[in-house]
Amino acid sequence: MILVLKENYDKKQLENLTSWLKEQNIDIHLSQGKQTTILGLIGDTSALDIDMLSTLDIVETAKRIQEPYKNANRKFHPDDTVISVGDVKIGGGNFGIIAGPCSVESEEQLCTIAEDVKASGAKMLRGGAFKPRTSPYAFQGLREKGIELLLRAKEKTGLPIVTEIMDLSHLPLFKDVDVIQVGARNMQNFELLKELGKTNKPILLKRGLSSTLQELLMSAEYIMAGGNSNVILCERGIRTFETATRNTLDLSAVPLLRQMTHLPIIVDPSHATGIAKLVKPMAVAATAAGSDGLIIEVHNDPPHALCDGAQSLTPEQFADLKKSVDNVLPFACRS
Ligand code: PEP
Ligand code: MN
Repeated sequence: MILVLKENYDKKQLENLTSWLKEQNIDIHLSQGKQTTILGLIGDTSALDIDMLSTLDIVETAKRIQEPYKNANRKFHPDDTVISVGDVKIGGGNFGIIAGPCSVESEEQLCTIAEDVKASGAKMLRGGAFKPRTSPYAFQGLREKGIELLLRAKEKTGLPIVTEIMDLSHLPLFKDVDVIQVGARNMQNFELLKELGKTNKPILLKRGLSSTLQELLMSAEYIMAGGNSNVILCERGIRTFETATRNTLDLSAVPLLRQMTHLPIIVDPSHATGIAKLVKPMAVAATAAGSDGLIIEVHNDPPHALCDGAQSLTPEQFADLKKSVDNVLPFACRS
């Protein structure tokens, strides 16, 4: 971090600042020009509050040279991280599709979809047991029972399961879940992230509705700082002024995140668009942009789905999507 001091800064205040910084284990490189004095802060500055430093009387501007996320930063970990879920690998050139219904509704519904998506080449099964719904009157998920059914579908198909956690108190219920999803609405639930950091489970961390990429990486950092480096990032669309789609898919997030972090990045074109017809073209585009995988909502009877039917593909549509994705995969841009 660099602090540019005001022209007639108070020497005593500078002494106070430097001794405080030394207490924080920061070394200081002072550069005294004719008009400008610059302090170069050397060491781990990630815990320093840049806003506080920039409001000090003697400071003109403060600028971070290094990003505030260390564990997730590609600079300190140049190789791609590969996340293993059973035999499935995501990242570092390993591409995988997670597919399944928005919500677990019944054993028959889930198992039928699971068999179908497996036959088309999905590597993992998704299904919401705890559902974050905008309306308290909408279907809230089968909760514990939903997780039981997911485990049964895993037993039948061998597909690892991915399901969303909404509250810290539910964590014991997730002990046999393969990948724990943190949904967009919980991306900044820091207490939840800290607890997930103490587990060794792969975490699928979805980008918040109005979050920047740096905020997404700071949330990943919460999990990683606790010792869990198994984080998969997910771009799932952000809120913009556009109302024609449910969200706006920020595809540039894929190559940008690839530069910023070594963590795998997957894309969710279902929640990004909210429209079944748009899911295939966006899935293909995300693959071409270098995504490490996709998460796709699939339902055996979309018009009667209890949640997100409008964006759900039928198993046949999913099979067709998979073929198109496979066609572009060899040409995907990964550098
Ligand atoms: C989901 O995947 O079912 C979900 C609710 O997604 P998001 O958190 O991205 O809205
Ligand atoms: Mn959904």
